[in-house]
Amino acid sequence: MPDMKTADVAIVGGGVIGSACAFFLARNPDFAGRVVVLERDPTYERCSTARSVGGIRQQFSNPENIRMSQFAIEFVRDVQSELSVDDDPVDLSFVEGGYLFLASPEGQSVLADNARTQIGLGADVVSLTPQELSQRFPWLNTDGLAAGVFGQSGEGWIDPYSLLMAFRRKARALGAEYRSAAVTGLARSDTGGFALTLSDGGRLSAGTVINAAGPQAGAVAAMLGIALPVVPRKRMVYVIDCRTPIDNCPLLVDPTGVYVRPESGQYICGTAPPADADPDGEDFTEDYSLFEEIVWPTLAHRIPAFEAIKLQRAWAGLYAVNTLDQNAILGPHPDMPDFLFANGFSGHGLQKSPAVGRAISELVIYGAYRSLDLTRFGFDRIGRNDPIPEINVV
Ligand SMILES: Cc1cc2nc3c(=O)[nH]c(=O)nc-3n(C[C@H](O)[C@H](O)[C@H](O)COP(=O)(O)OP(=O)(O)OC[C@H]3O[C@@H](n4cnc5c(N)ncnc54)[C@H](O)[C@@H]3O)c2cc1C
Repeated sequence: MPDMKTADVAIVGGGVIGSACAFFLARNPDFAGRVVVLERDPTYERCSTARSVGGIRQQFSNPENIRMSQFAIEFVRDVQSELSVDDDPVDLSFVEGGYLFLASPEGQSVLADNARTQIGLGADVVSLTPQELSQRFPWLNTDGLAAGVFGQSGEGWIDPYSLLMAFRRKARALGAEYRSAAVTGLARSDTGGFALTLSDGGRLSAGTVINAAGPQAGAVAAMLGIALPVVPRKRMVYVIDCRTPIDNCPLLVDPTGVYVRPESGQYICGTAPPADADPDGEDFTEDYSLFEEIVWPTLAHRIPAFEAIKLQRAWAGLYAVNTLDQNAILGPHPDMPDFLFANGFSGHGLQKSPAVGRAISELVIYGAYRSLDLTRFGFDRIGRNDPIPEINVV
């Protein structure tokens, strides 16, 4: 007889999103339920979180995304009191290096509109002319640029794996349970709630299920017959050495979408492939053509010191792309209020994780958002074919 246990909340996927949900549930005194996180690979080798670039920025175009990242910065600054266990220090290797978004003349008005929205919400970003860009970043080639926006504080990068581990450790210390098993089956049970079948032969019944399966979220939703438009797409990250120092290098985003930032004496960089070369699927093969054809030529033009670099290594990770609008899908299924989505974050789920964990825990405990209203990101917009475009997608 397989064991059959009961959880109040089962979280499918223990990456940074699932672990943030577990933490915010476990620490809330208004919630006394049993939380079980099902994670198929406790080494986290291929999950999105472990392969992320770790950036946190306020430079988004829509207010909810800005506010979620503002909460991430607050949370990172306060991480010792939030996540340390037994007074062991939590080290996220936070570098408050800023993002620098650059625009060509065609992109200038969009950049300016976005900056107005960000400043209106209190973001410490400043618009710079090409001359000001040259003064502030003397290593930058401003040819073809009409403007830039720089985050002077409240933006930068952290070590993604450390955040995941800190959420996980604290969630467990507060009573959340982690089980190393894949969810292989998910069905509504006759008595209400859900029945989960696990790869270790076990079964679990749960009153509430949170889908936090990252790039595999579509497959988990499909177990309940739900079509969730979230697909895995490969994103390459390249690690390069450059002998010439680039002082105060922020996370720079070229108008082409190519990005670069410093990392431990080296630089990491990448870009999204062209849309016609961006298939769905779980592909982890290292692909250097994008570097040779797009990333390096673009960077060498924008930062002439990068003409002489050495490519050291590369890795492939998966974005969980919401094909409707590349934005998150959050909250309950309209016909199954106890099945909650926390999916489709593309390249910004790491920085959304504190706000998403908090938001999903509020839905579970209070049945409504309390801190930040994220209703617009609900699943029902999929059925209405009503996208919320995010213009600043990297
Ligand atoms: C190259 C790259 C760069 C990025 N850069 C940034 C950035 O700069 N800033 C930023 O904010 N974000 C960035 N991201 C995005 C960010 O990493 C993700 O949005 C975030 O990590 C998603 O977390 P998650 O928990 O949803 O997914 P994951 O980390 O993938 O976790 C999902 C977990 O679910 C588990 N799982 C799946 N199916 C099942 C199942 N059936 N049963 C049990 N377990 C299951 C998986 O094993 C996995 O561990 C980047 C991503 C990549 C790939």
